[in-house]
Amino acid sequence: MIELTPEESEFRATVARFVDREIAPVAAALDERGEFPRDLFRRIGELGWFGLRYPESAGGSGAGFVTYLVLAEELARGSMSVAASTAMQAMMGTDFVFRYGTPDHHARLLTPALRGEKIGAFCLSEPDAGSDLARISTAARESGGAWRVSGRKMWVTNGTVADFYTVAATTDRAQGLKGLRFFLVERDAPGLRVGRRIQTVGLRAGEVTDLALEECPAVPLGQGGVADLGKMLDQVRTMTGALSLGLGRAALDEAARYAKQRVCFEKPVAKFQAIRHMLAQSAADLEASRLLVYQAGRRIERGLKCGREAAIAKLLASETANRIADAATRVLAGYGFAMEYPAQRFFRDARFLLIGGGTSEILRDVIARDVLEE
Ligand SMILES: Cc1cc2nc3c(=O)[nH]c(=O)nc-3n(C[C@H](O)[C@H](O)[C@H](O)COP(=O)(O)OP(=O)(O)OC[C@H]3O[C@@H](n4cnc5c(N)ncnc54)[C@H](O)[C@@H]3O)c2cc1C
Repeated sequence: MIELTPEESEFRATVARFVDREIAPVAAALDERGEFPRDLFRRIGELGWFGLRYPESAGGSGAGFVTYLVLAEELARGSMSVAASTAMQAMMGTDFVFRYGTPDHHARLLTPALRGEKIGAFCLSEPDAGSDLARISTAARESGGAWRVSGRKMWVTNGTVADFYTVAATTDRAQGLKGLRFFLVERDAPGLRVGRRIQTVGLRAGEVTDLALEECPAVPLGQGGVADLGKMLDQVRTMTGALSLGLGRAALDEAARYAKQRVCFEKPVAKFQAIRHMLAQSAADLEASRLLVYQAGRRIERGLKCGREAAIAKLLASETANRIADAATRVLAGYGFAMEYPAQRFFRDARFLLIGGGTSEILRDVIARDVLEE
């Protein structure tokens, strides 16, 4: 069930070559400059990878969800910033416009976005609402058939450079989650103020920002916010698991490379059992995470229920990636603390994996509810 098909394996090899040639060599510079990787974004668009999950009729290539996971994993092996920005564009940033946008939205926004010429962002979180989405206070009001949205959004990945935003807002706060709906807000909408880039520890080229909306004209995308969100969250969690696999592999490769060449007490440190066990445990945890992530991906692809599987996959894969990044900095010791070596970047970027798509605490809660059949 979790073996890749020949097509998926071939796609992995293609992405891996691209990552080795065009992403890995510039990953450190992108992180240092903290700038959105526009040129790479266009290249990924030209390759058609933003449209992997979408049907050909929408400008996509109609591939399965597992193919998308392969893309997320391989890109994250090269650069978490590029991978997370790509994943945002290929899923959350464009999904609601694909599903509920008008033909005009598709022609003006979706199709160019799938080519990498326009950028879409997804705005759920607020300064006072992250895990607890019932606290969302950005409000949407209708008057004479026209909707306007007012409030503040926070942590918007690709937000500084986006051309359009999918914004969660409440139409009736008393209804909590049931009152949530999604709206399309375009960059040039009157009343939209895009904040400055938030200085972050990791994902530095992702250009995360905040938004202020004041009576912004907005177009509803679908009717039922929460139901739509539930399905998407399973996909986001599984995808974040795939990002975790990519980062874990990169950190393990770097630790192994260094352990073989660093000599202490007349032998490479790779000969010390303490180091070998760190590498071995990392490889074992990574393999277990890989099985969980791709198993959840296959379930999503087949339309099977996946809430528990996605939460478990994301929880274990993201915690694993953090442990491996930690192990890598230990193996490199002093050089793990040096900005010239990539281990510190893996360590910083890995922190994002514990947050995006639901924190580990929230995921444990989701799993516990399923175990207890609550
Ligand atoms: C780099 C980055 C990019 C992001 N990009 C986006 C984006 O593009 N769009 C978007 O909408 N959001 C984005 N986010 C926001 C992200 O989804 C939220 O940060 C996340 O949902 C957690 O919310 P919070 O930070 O408000 O933490 P809180 O929800 O305030 O949580 C604080 C602490 O309390 C714990 N906690 C909360 N509730 C419970 C509970 N019921 N049980 C146990 N523990 C609990 C949490 O686990 C955490 O430890 C991004 C975040 C980062 C860091």
